[in-house]
Amino acid sequence: MKECDFMCNYDLIVVGMGPSSIFLAYELVMKNKAKNVLLIDEGKPVEKRCCPVEKMGECMKCKPFCNITSGFSGAGAFSDGKLSLYNEEDDDIYVGGNLHRYIGVEKTKRLIDYADNVYLKFGADKHLEGIEHKEEIDKLKKKAKKEDINLIGIPIRHLGTEKSHEIYKKIQDFLEENNINMMYETVVEDLIIEENEIKGVRTRKANDTKTEDLFAKKVVLAVGRKGADWLSRMCDKYKIKTEPGAVDIGVRYELKDEVMESVNKYLYEGKFIGRPYPFRDKVRTFCQNPSGFVSEEVYDDNLSLVNGHSYKDKKSTNTNLAILVSHNFKNPFNKPIEYGKNVAKNLNELGNGAILVQRLGDIQRGKRTWQEELDENEVIPTLKSAVPGDITFAIGYRTMTDIIMFINAMDKIIEGFADPHNLLYAPEIKFYSNKVFIDENFETSIKDLYCIGDGGGMTRGLMMASAAGVQMARNIIELEIKEEK
Ligand SMILES: Cc1cc2nc3c(=O)[nH]c(=O)nc-3n(C[C@H](O)[C@H](O)[C@H](O)COP(=O)(O)OP(=O)(O)OC[C@H]3O[C@@H](n4cnc5c(N)ncnc54)[C@H](O)[C@@H]3O)c2cc1C
Repeated sequence: MKECDFMCNYDLIVVGMGPSSIFLAYELVMKNKAKNVLLIDEGKPVEKRCCPVEKMGECMKCKPFCNITSGFSGAGAFSDGKLSLYNEEDDDIYVGGNLHRYIGVEKTKRLIDYADNVYLKFGADKHLEGIEHKEEIDKLKKKAKKEDINLIGIPIRHLGTEKSHEIYKKIQDFLEENNINMMYETVVEDLIIEENEIKGVRTRKANDTKTEDLFAKKVVLAVGRKGADWLSRMCDKYKIKTEPGAVDIGVRYELKDEVMESVNKYLYEGKFIGRPYPFRDKVRTFCQNPSGFVSEEVYDDNLSLVNGHSYKDKKSTNTNLAILVSHNFKNPFNKPIEYGKNVAKNLNELGNGAILVQRLGDIQRGKRTWQEELDENEVIPTLKSAVPGDITFAIGYRTMTDIIMFINAMDKIIEGFADPHNLLYAPEIKFYSNKVFIDENFETSIKDLYCIGDGGGMTRGLMMASAAGVQMARNIIELEIKEEK
C-alpha cells in the first residue's frame, strides 16, 4: 500500500453500509486483506433499525434519519429482498444497473453467482422464482411484443423483508468478528481532498455539531440513492467528473393479486418495458410485490416517497409494482435530482406531507379521489397513511401521459391492468444523481477516491450492488499488489 503523508487513521474508509459496502468488506475479509478498514453510516446497526409505521399507522418521519434507508445494509434492510439473477443464455444483463458496462457481461454473471452464494451461505432461501413455466412465459412475451412492450423474465431469489433482516444481521456479525470497524450514526459531511487526491472524510455525529476529520489512504463512496444528493454536491464542490444522469419518476400501482396471477405465478417479477406514444420515453415496471404492501420512505428535506415490499409470511391480497418513466435532460437544464425533488415536493404538499393515492378511474374521469370513494373501492389500499387526492396536479403532463398510455397497453397483455379501481400512489421517484465518472478500477477523477453502488449511478438493485462491492474489493487488492511492486 502507498505511503500516507498524513497521520492515516485507516487504510480504507467506506462511506455507507449498504450492500455494496458490506460485500466489499466481506470480500476483503475472505481474501485476508481487511487490515484497517472503517465503514461509516449515518444510520444504526441492523437490529436497532425499526420503522414505526406499522405500530403508529403512519410515517413518523424519524429523526435524524429514516430507518428504511439508513443503517447497516442500507436500503436493503427493509427491502423486499428480491435478488435479481440473470439468464445464462442472454448476452446482456437487463436488470439491476450497469456494472456490466464497466467489467463486461461474463464477469458480471460470475460475480452475481458469487454474491448469490454468499447470500445462500448466510441463510437465503434456496428456491428460485421464475425458472419454471418456460412455455407460459414465452406466451406472455409474445403477447407483450404485439403491444410493443418487452417482457424481461429472469430468475429471482426472494429473501422477504423479515428474512433480509436476519441475513444482514448475520453478515454484520461476521464483519464485526473479523475486525471490520463500523461507525454508526455518523454523517460524512465533507470529503478532504488536496491537489486532486483524497485524504479523508469530515464526519459529524448525528444530533451533534462537532466534526472530526478521519484520514485514509483510500476512500470508497457507497452512499446509495439516499446519498445521491450529497454526492452530487460533492461532485460540484470538488469538480469530480460526472456524466449526465437520469431521474425515474412515476407511481406505485396497486391492483388485485388475481389480475396479476399469470405474471406472479410464472415469473414472480416480470419487468415490462415500453416506449409509448407520443413521447416514446422509456416506461418500465419495477419492484413487483405479489401479495405485498405499499410502503413509505422519507428522504432528505423530509420528502416522502412511496415504495413497496412483500413479506415471506405476512400476505395481502394485492400486488404492487412501480411504473417509472425515465427522464433525461439536455442543455441548458441538467439537474435531474432537483427536477425530481420539485415534483416530489409538490405532490407531498398536495397530500399535506403524506403520500397521495388516486383511483385510475378518477384520473380517467378528470377528478380527484375522495376518502368515501377510497373506503368503498374494490382495491383496498395497503398503505393506510396515504391521502386520497389528485396526482395529476403535480406529476407533469408528460409523465402522466406516459403512465396512462403504458397502463392501457398493459391491459391488452394482462386483462384488468387498467381496471378503474386500481390505485396509483405518488411520488415514486428513483434518484440516481449524475453518473459519477469512474475508470475500470471504479476510481473517480480524484486519486484514490472510488465510487460504487446505486449512489453514483452504477447499480439499481441489491444483487448488482452486492456484486459491485465484491469487484471493488478485488480491484483494491490488485491495486495494492501493483503499488507494492
Ligand atoms: C423499500 C425498498 C425496497 C427495495 N426492494 C428491492 C428489491 O426487492 N430488490 C432489489 O434488487 N432492490 C431493492 N431495493 C433497492 C436496493 O435496496 C438498493 O438497490 C441497494 O440497497 C443499493 O445498495 P447501495 O450499497 O448502493 O446503497 P444503499 O443500500 O442505499 O446504502 C447506502 C447507505 O449509505 C448511507 N449514507 C448515505 N450518505 C451518507 C453520508 N453522507 N454519511 C453517512 N452515511 C451515508 C445511507 O444511510 C445508507 O445506509 C429496494 C429499496 C427500497 C428503499
